[in-house]
Amino acid sequence: NPTEGYRPIQALPDHLISQIAAGEVVERPSAVVKELLENALDAGSSSITIRLEEGGVKRIAIIDNGRGIPPDQLPLALQRHATSKIATLEELENVATLGFRGEALASISSVAVLTVTTRTADAPHAWQIENGKITPASGGQGTTVDVQDLYYNTPARRKFLKSEQTEFGHCAEVVRRIALARPDVSFSLSHNGKTVDHWNVSAFDKRSASILGDAFSSARLAIDESAGPLRLHGFIGLPTASKGRADAQYFYVNGRFVRDKLLTHAVRAAYQDVLHGDRYPSYVIALDLDPALVDVNVHPSKIEVRFRDSRSVHQFVFHAINRALAQTSATAFGTVP
Ligand code: ADP
Ligand code: MG
Repeated sequence: NPTEGYRPIQALPDHLISQIAAGEVVERPSAVVKELLENALDAGSSSITIRLEEGGVKRIAIIDNGRGIPPDQLPLALQRHATSKIATLEELENVATLGFRGEALASISSVAVLTVTTRTADAPHAWQIENGKITPASGGQGTTVDVQDLYYNTPARRKFLKSEQTEFGHCAEVVRRIALARPDVSFSLSHNGKTVDHWNVSAFDKRSASILGDAFSSARLAIDESAGPLRLHGFIGLPTASKGRADAQYFYVNGRFVRDKLLTHAVRAAYQDVLHGDRYPSYVIALDLDPALVDVNVHPSKIEVRFRDSRSVHQFVFHAINRALAQTSATAFGTVP
């Protein structure tokens, strides 16, 4: 039988497409936290509360005071590839928001029980969407996204989750990353009803001191250098603030936390003369450049970026850090009077 083993090609149902996408976009609770925090920031929030239960698996609730979503737009907010952030290729290439793919809420709602409660400034009351049904609700301006029972309908994925404490640790790290980049926003994080972290609006040096600790803040250098379209600013740890693990390395490109081989290499190389090979520098640094010079649409979670001119970015980052370290290494090592 020549057709044996042959299956006709079929378009996948929408819900299954979202569940497949969810594997990339929200592979664990911390990825949900990241997506929802980015949405809250894109909505102009100045205060964000994160409530987690059981490592985020049982519940992730993110409460913001941003601009909210008009009720007639709520179904679209949950629809795949629907976004208010870009409309054209040109806007994609110059994107200034953290999100733009229009995938997060659709992906999350395909693998969890999602409720969105939201109120815009001019609305007389809030609205809520759950299970496709929109009803009036109570609540102040802003948006609350409540995600319950993550992966309840995809048991295979659920099996890949680690312990509650491990998943919570990843979530807390995501909150720290974002809180470091946005000292102008207050954040509050609770787990199983207990407040774990709270940061009021503050200056960047205070925020980074409270997140990275005293050891870092007493042994750090401020840097702020510009060259053409590139600006690098933040704090780099002196060799005395280095660690045995690479767990205090925060690099941001246009406000987005990234883990990028090129940038990591440039920093590492800048420290080469002052740091042993088994030590890791601590830093929180931000590279700002024209959005048209960097492609953030490389990876679904946008943790990798691609620079149009990676050579000059590498050189700029290397020299800025290397110079700052060279200026003080003399005093740090006591080799100069
Ligand atoms: P994206 O962020 O890529 O646009 P999402 O699926 O994360 O895609 O969100 C879809 C849309 O829902 C957003 O474009 C935005 O208009 C709206 N939205 C989501 N979260 C919020 C929020 N916290 N406050 C205001 N609007 C939101
Ligand atoms: Mg988003």
